[in-house]
Amino acid sequence: MMLKWLKKIGTKKRKKAAANRTDAGPVRIIPRSEHSITRKNIDESALKVLYGLHKAGYQAFLVGGAVRDLLLGHRPKDFDVATDATPEQVKALFRNCRLIGRRFRLAHIHYGRHIIEVATFRGDHGDSQSGHLDDSGRILRDNVYGDISQDVWRRDFTVNALYYNIADFSVIDYVGGFEDVIQGRLRLIGDPEDRYREDPVRMLRVIRFSAKLGFSIDESCQGFILEQGALLRDVPPARLYEEVLKLLHSGHAIESFRALREYHLLEHLFPEASKALDNNEVALKFLQLAMQSTDERIHQHKPVTPAFLFAALLWAPLQTRMEKRLAQGEPPSLALHKAASALVSEQVRHVSIPKRFTTVMRDIWALQPRFSYRRGKRAESVFEHPKFRAGYDFLCLRAKAGENTEEDCRWWTEFQENLPEAQKLLMQSRPAPQHDKPRRKRRRRKPKTD
Ligand code: ATP
Ligand code: MG
Repeated sequence: MMLKWLKKIGTKKRKKAAANRTDAGPVRIIPRSEHSITRKNIDESALKVLYGLHKAGYQAFLVGGAVRDLLLGHRPKDFDVATDATPEQVKALFRNCRLIGRRFRLAHIHYGRHIIEVATFRGDHGDSQSGHLDDSGRILRDNVYGDISQDVWRRDFTVNALYYNIADFSVIDYVGGFEDVIQGRLRLIGDPEDRYREDPVRMLRVIRFSAKLGFSIDESCQGFILEQGALLRDVPPARLYEEVLKLLHSGHAIESFRALREYHLLEHLFPEASKALDNNEVALKFLQLAMQSTDERIHQHKPVTPAFLFAALLWAPLQTRMEKRLAQGEPPSLALHKAASALVSEQVRHVSIPKRFTTVMRDIWALQPRFSYRRGKRAESVFEHPKFRAGYDFLCLRAKAGENTEEDCRWWTEFQENLPEAQKLLMQSRPAPQHDKPRRKRRRRKPKTD
């Protein structure tokens, strides 16, 4: 969603950035006859918003990723609109409009569960007195309205800064983004160092777009990432969580993960995991398999849970921590429990993980040693565990990566294939059944009264 990032950007220095800004020459207007965007591929609700604004005499543009994706022939994830109408003017035009945000007012126009985000052009903060940047160059405030020629400069990459004009169906390009889409190139607008400092999350965004679109990263935008990846450590963990999820649940996790390592960013997001991967081929293979299976599930429209990937990411460091505890004589289940708690608390200082997922991660981990139970109640309780399936998938990926869980994976696979017989076997080896499944609530008989 457009401009959401503005609300999330934290505190401290710039001014320099706006001053250094290199304007990319005159505006280029690409007429309808010279580009491939057709209204057929634009979401119906977005068209309603664009036309609604236009008919009321305002400027209305489709912006950001939607224009980029349409030019590439992809289906955009969301459709964002930019206009010269103020949020209040937008609200007055659409009954289904709600204004959100205090400092960054945006209009959300609702069509059922679908929302079209409308942002008023932001002004040029370089020349304003409002001191928008903190000491490290990050944006603090962004509440000055402006026109399209100012709005364009605050966008991140040239390919994300194209405007599709509903008035004449042309594409407006101030920064050479059209050519960059054709060349498949990601280039930051303005001075790369300033733009990364302003919002270090752009280092993750460039990796995401490059993985998703198969675009190259312009040389000018590479060096800084390698040198200054540590700036990510100042970004709030909750924002990093959202970005990491976008990277890993984009259907391009494998490539994103490879690039995170290539640009030495993994160590700032998942420090222990990153360290545990050094010289550990099995751990690396395991993670690659986990990413691959996530990508496949996404392409097949199957559900994915962040818990699985995070459990996989932290699996190797969990082993390291556990081994230390076992060496100190701690019983295995206690060692696992304590190692997991300590590891998760350390991790969420960098990239936060919501509690509902850390609980599942711990379930997946705790199930791993229990897969060696083959008989009786203990095996039955493994099978009945609500996270059995995730735990089992995890176990088999470990086996595939070269851990010695192959036997267990095979046994549980066969068990599921021959369910009725296998279940019988389990039953035989345990004492008399306590209850029939599914367990029903026993209805109390009303005491007889006479
Ligand atoms: P996606 O396909 O992931 O939706 P997108 O380019 O649409 O990609 P969004 O996060 O939806 O990305 O943001 C919409 C637009 O807002 C971007 O295209 C870009 O112009 C601008 N934008 C978003 N985040 C930033 C940021 N951190 N810095 C500068 N501009 C940004
Ligand atoms: Mg988008």
